[in-house]
Amino acid sequence: MTQDFSFAGSSAQIVFGVGSRNKVAEWIAKVGCKRALVLATPHQKADAEALASEIGSLACGVFSGATMHTPVEVTEAAMKVVAETGADCVISLGGGSTTGLGKAIAYRTDLLQIVIPTTYAGSEVTPILGQTEGGRKTTVRDARILPEIVIYDPSLTLGLPVAMSVTSGLNAMAHAVEGLYARDRNPISSLMALEGLRAFARSLPVIVNDPKNAEARSDALYGAWLCGSVLGTVGMALHHKICHTLGGSFDTPHAETHAVMLPHTAAFNADAAAPELAEAAGIFGGSIGGGLWDFAKAIGAPLSLKEFGLTEADLDRAASVAVENPYWNPRPIDRESIRTLLQDAWEGRRPK
Ligand code: NAD
Repeated sequence: MTQDFSFAGSSAQIVFGVGSRNKVAEWIAKVGCKRALVLATPHQKADAEALASEIGSLACGVFSGATMHTPVEVTEAAMKVVAETGADCVISLGGGSTTGLGKAIAYRTDLLQIVIPTTYAGSEVTPILGQTEGGRKTTVRDARILPEIVIYDPSLTLGLPVAMSVTSGLNAMAHAVEGLYARDRNPISSLMALEGLRAFARSLPVIVNDPKNAEARSDALYGAWLCGSVLGTVGMALHHKICHTLGGSFDTPHAETHAVMLPHTAAFNADAAAPELAEAAGIFGGSIGGGLWDFAKAIGAPLSLKEFGLTEADLDRAASVAVENPYWNPRPIDRESIRTLLQDAWEGRRPK
């Protein structure tokens, strides 16, 4: 096969290592900022306050109202604090929800973002922002949205609960699996995707038994960077579309929905993208769908959509919404095959 691709590396500065959170002040100063507003969810407020006090005079405040799906009202409240404090950069400490708020602020102000991720969602390395207004979710892609500096410190993930580690890890792995068959993939995105899948395949089973295992935590966060980078550079297909539909229309939990759907969407595309998925299938024992399902089961992931309270009538509606706007997928999509796929995922059946 001959190669045919275009490639643009990310401009983001990635800092990775145990203890790298202690370099935050150094990085604020290095980029010439003087007033950092620290962002977090209410759940991580104390961590954000501790970080602000460590940064000392370079911090101008804490806003701890970040929440799922980046509602515009929350962004507006945070924008008031940005104005009041005269912040010249934001520091997002947390998962995808907090990173989303930082991105929403940067999209409106072009303030510099430093992200310190504490989950494996991967939003910190993408130029994509999903926000909600009046219950409607819209997605924008813009250069201002890509965070300039990402500080990955595995020690901050030691306390990520096991169940969240599992679902967040599978959420990240879904970026890699879809990246492998993306139409606009390139050799680097595919290398990153496979390396990311390997990192999670070895680390998640260890984390389940030993959540404070430093090496496994480092490996998983490394996988999160790799898989998130794939999401940030190439287009996604059926899997992300269905998860977006389920989350948007039925408010199913983000990472958990990805975790349940991944084996099914991978199996759906397995034949159509067989050469692209061959190495990944090898990592999980030979069949991509069945192998991912066995892996998910072994690490205690949720396996059925039923667990989220969805009904079979919801599946009918979800199948219709998921095929409303045409999009590219390695295997052509029609309502009936999507409905069957959803039924399998709802029942928690092992795909082939
Ligand atoms: P989250 O950020 O909503 O976090 C869930 C909860 O876990 C929060 O209360 C958070 O404070 C807490 N938490 C985070 N890290 C913790 C830790 N180490 N220890 C204990 N608690 C911790 O969850 P998420 O899955 O990271 O992010 C989901 C959101 O991110 C969704 O809204 C999704 O759409 C978005 N997302 C966006 C992109 C993108 O590229 N735009 C990519 C992935 C996810």
